[in-house]
Amino acid sequence: MTWKLTKSELDNQSLLVNESLLSLGNGYLGVRGNFEEGYHEGYKSIRGTYINAFHDETEITYGEKLYAFPDTQQKLVNIIDGQGVYIYLDDERFSLFEGEILDFERNLHVNTGFAERIIHWKSPKGKEVKLHFRRIVSFETKELFAIDVSVEPVQNVEQIKIISTVEGDVSNYVDKNDPRVASGHAKRLHVTEVKKQEDYSIVKDTTYVTNLEVACATATRVNRSNSYECHVTDTGVEEEYVFAGSEIVRFTKFNVYTDTLRHGKTVIEQAVSIQDKLANRTFEDLLQAQQQYLDHFWSKSDIEIEGDDKLQEGIRFNLYQLLQSVGKDSVSNIAAKGLSGEGYEGHYFWDTEIYMFPVFLMTNPEIAKQLLLHRYSILDSARERAKEMGHRKGALYPWRTITGGESSAFFPAGTAQYHISADIAYSFIQYYLVTKDEAFLQEYMAEVLFETARLWSDTGHMLDGQFRIDDVTGPDEYTCIVNNNYYTNVMAKHNLLWAAKLYRKLKEKGALDQLAERLDLSEQEAKEWQEAGENMYLPYDESRKINAQDDSFLKKERWDLENTPKDKFPLLLNYHPLTLYRYQVCKQADTVLAHFLLEDEQDEETIKSSYDYYEQITTHDSSLSYCVFSIMGSKLGYDEKAYAYFNETARLDLDNTHGNTKDGLHMANMGGTWLAIVFGFAGLRVKESGISLQPTLPKKWKSLKFHLQYQGRLLQIRMENDTITYLVEEGEALTITHHGQFVTLERGESVVLKLRA
Ligand code: BGC
Repeated sequence: MTWKLTKSELDNQSLLVNESLLSLGNGYLGVRGNFEEGYHEGYKSIRGTYINAFHDETEITYGEKLYAFPDTQQKLVNIIDGQGVYIYLDDERFSLFEGEILDFERNLHVNTGFAERIIHWKSPKGKEVKLHFRRIVSFETKELFAIDVSVEPVQNVEQIKIISTVEGDVSNYVDKNDPRVASGHAKRLHVTEVKKQEDYSIVKDTTYVTNLEVACATATRVNRSNSYECHVTDTGVEEEYVFAGSEIVRFTKFNVYTDTLRHGKTVIEQAVSIQDKLANRTFEDLLQAQQQYLDHFWSKSDIEIEGDDKLQEGIRFNLYQLLQSVGKDSVSNIAAKGLSGEGYEGHYFWDTEIYMFPVFLMTNPEIAKQLLLHRYSILDSARERAKEMGHRKGALYPWRTITGGESSAFFPAGTAQYHISADIAYSFIQYYLVTKDEAFLQEYMAEVLFETARLWSDTGHMLDGQFRIDDVTGPDEYTCIVNNNYYTNVMAKHNLLWAAKLYRKLKEKGALDQLAERLDLSEQEAKEWQEAGENMYLPYDESRKINAQDDSFLKKERWDLENTPKDKFPLLLNYHPLTLYRYQVCKQADTVLAHFLLEDEQDEETIKSSYDYYEQITTHDSSLSYCVFSIMGSKLGYDEKAYAYFNETARLDLDNTHGNTKDGLHMANMGGTWLAIVFGFAGLRVKESGISLQPTLPKKWKSLKFHLQYQGRLLQIRMENDTITYLVEEGEALTITHHGQFVTLERGESVVLKLRA
């Protein structure tokens, strides 16, 4: 069954990868899939618990620090460890690495939202026991991480002892040889309070620089009479229960985490008060609430395919992990690795807007809205950053950040990626097109669009009647600091023209004055946006009939990919950046991505020739690449390629094909799986004119079914054999475009059409 992921390996490499794969989270709290009792001595583990956006700041040390290089970097902090549960059978401590495993299965249930280990174990001295560990990070109570263990003595067990720990002395993981992982600053917080209060073990930690506090209040419960001891140490609390070895012991541990960002200064009091409210809830109650939450989620978000179980598993797993990682409050967003690991240090990138936001937008628009509100909340920092970078006006969003400060120390592939500001503007526009939320437009979207348009207006310049943008970096990080990156220019054009349009719209409605005054915005500026947008220079190469990635790209030598040894990939770990910049070689989709996001800017021939050209020189060293080539492969009728690229996305983490899943899951790629199905195979596009579909069904699939949310409707789409069935399940009638033909769908009435044009 494809709702259950089973991962029972015990070698160290797999265990590390499985820590990410079996991580649990709810957008606020994330816990890696570690073993409660740890591994064998000498095994490596990245033992981690994280709160989205809970961070410290570290100094960035440069050899040569130039003007406006950021001084500090934000960093997601590994917080108090509430995972510890150690089981003793008489004098022997349970470990899967000793004795004999008679049975072992480890699962993640993505429909019910918990992870488990089912174990039948014989100790070295012949004591036999059955263990069942279950853990949950609750969607209902976002602060709660609960563990439930049942210990069933089978043979020769006289006494069962359980030691449960909460440990505040924790560190982050570092790897100085991988730029995608932090290289220093492992210890980011210290223990500031430890105590036993009422029935709770309390540990509070404080970060060194940001002075943020995190508290963990833990309640443990057991089902049988026992002897009990509790030890409060300098850094944590240890509770010890001892039982006669005659019957099943059931041990439950509720860890409640609170932090300054959401709970203010009284983190301990708040954690205790949440615990008090949970006093009558059993682990089964939690499971039930979790199931309810997920039933609702899957009813709107599931993608069902018949014909390939492995892919079905990948799709559901990816969707589930997106849900577990996405911040659902306005102080958080969705990190490049979600809450599953420390890679990229918990930072938010453009990954959100271009790869993950659309999934939520089309399935859970209220979550999508939160993501935009987070971007709105850091608009002031973006304005400040624009000033620091020498702009007179506007907002420059940081390339990587948590609370708004630029955290990228390598500016050629960081700050120089100005396109992130247009990407954010693009997602606000998409949100508006899908929800028609006029209040949101007025309150948030207009301001973001105006400020980002100002950035483009100030960054670019007119030359010979064309608006040009110099010295920026596009999405492809193997080509940096170039003039007129096609992607950046076309996205900036969209940003500028929409800002000008919104200006006119609000003006006509008489709803502009307050905002215009606050931003000191004039009619003249809006005219300049219009003019810059209309005259945006978009590089085009006549002889190849393609959009040049930038002004110099096509004049460079081509990298010899065919003769590059396999062990030299990813290139970024084996060549100096300058070497890469001198060649035509792409880390990821760039122009091809622009052709997806803004397809009406070019004719089909240019889009096709560009795909053919860039495909030859793209390494896909970034996991953000495959899905784009899949989507555009579908559009261009390259069905086999589209399917092959899709395959790469669907199981990238499950099969650890990029080799670094241990550092956390590739969240943007996971969004990409959904995009490749919905925008790729189903050919969905969302434009001002409405939604359109150009569906195809991969040959290997018998059927495909999913839902979309659009302007208050819930639309079901099902493809099977040669037909597609559209059904408006909720909301009013809807007119869509199917292969270029208008079709009106009445609520509750299925419309069956031919799948292909
Ligand atoms: C990619 C970027 C991406 C970042 C975080 C890099 O490898 O090139 O486009 O934003 O990873 O996922």
